[in-house]
Parts: sequence; structure tokens; C-alpha cells
Amino acid sequence: MLPEVVVFDLGKVLLDFDYTRAAQGIASKGTVTAQEVKDLINQTPLLLRYETGLMSKVEFYEAIRSATGFTGDVEEFGRIFGDIFEPMPEMIELHGALRKKGIPTFIFSNTSELAVAHIRKAFPFFNEFNGYILSYEHGAMKPQTKLYEVVEQKTGHRREKIIYIDDRPENIEAGAARDWQVILQETPAKSRAALRKAGLLNQA
Ligand SMILES: [Mg+2]
Repeated sequence: MLPEVVVFDLGKVLLDFDYTRAAQGIASKGTVTAQEVKDLINQTPLLLRYETGLMSKVEFYEAIRSATGFTGDVEEFGRIFGDIFEPMPEMIELHGALRKKGIPTFIFSNTSELAVAHIRKAFPFFNEFNGYILSYEHGAMKPQTKLYEVVEQKTGHRREKIIYIDDRPENIEAGAARDWQVILQETPAKSRAALRKAGLLNQA
């Protein structure tokens, strides 16, 4: 069945990310090493709490500050923390091609207020989706069921009318369990081929 809507994960699907530079930036104004900063913010319980919306931006900043001795203010912290992304041009192009065909697209991401504020400014394509399902706004993270239900509400579609691209197998599995069509992103070329096979893009 032809899908009606394409749901994109963000990290490692449309934007690559790496905390190395942010960790160096925070460490340069603190009392611990860049590696110690990285161990604190990269896929940790602290980041998970923040991305689930259980901490405010200021609480997150305070937690980092007390653990690292960072001397900058919350604005400077936000700038450094947000600057971890690099665009993935082939995937952004692919999104543009779907938009041109009038196919609705949505972002479905485990992310934070700080990251999204940065991304909105730095990457214009991000503002061109029909809607956004962001973990911190709903108190839940992928692969929790609650967030998939929000996707179905916001898109107005269910089951195989949704096609969903994500780089994490556990997230994809939760979508497949709801009978969504799913694409595990391994390379941009494979994702493009899978969308073509689903009938959404013409042959190159
Ligand atoms: Mg991802």
C-alpha cells in the first residue's frame, strides 16, 4: 500500500551529530577533561532525563555546571551544546524531493529544547516539515509506545499509511509492531531505494 506520510528520525538520518566539539568547548571553560564531559552528556541518564522533558534547560545547565566547573552562562552553554550537528546532504535532498511531490513529512525525534532551538536556526530545511513529534514535549522517548501514539494523532494516519525512517533498530521495531512501514537507515542510498520501492520516489 502506498504510504500517505513519511516520518523521519532526525539524528543520524537527516543530521549527523558528534559531542566531541561540544565536550571540548565545555571542558575549555571547566575543570574536567573533554572526555569526562563527553561521558556526562553522550547518551547518558542525565541527557535522557533532559530529553524526556523531566528537567528544564536551566536545571540541565546547572547539572553540567556543577559536574564540570563550566564557568560560562546558560546562553553560552546552549550555544556550545547545540553545536554538535552536521547536515546529511543526500537525506536533506531526499526530503526536498518528497516535499516537491506534496508528500507530508514529519520529524520524530528524541531530542531537547536546546538542540531544537539551535537546529531551527542553523538548518532551514528543518522548518519545512508538516509537524514535529519531539520527546521532550511529551514526557516520553522512543521506543516508548506513548510517543508512537502521538505520531499517529499528529499525522492523522496509522498502520501502513505511515512510512518511518530511523537508524536505531529498537525504534524501527516499535513502529513495525504498529504495522507501520519501516526503513532502517544504514546509508542514504539504501533509504532512498527503500522509499522508491514503497512507491514514493521516481526512479533516478
Ligand atoms: Mg537517530
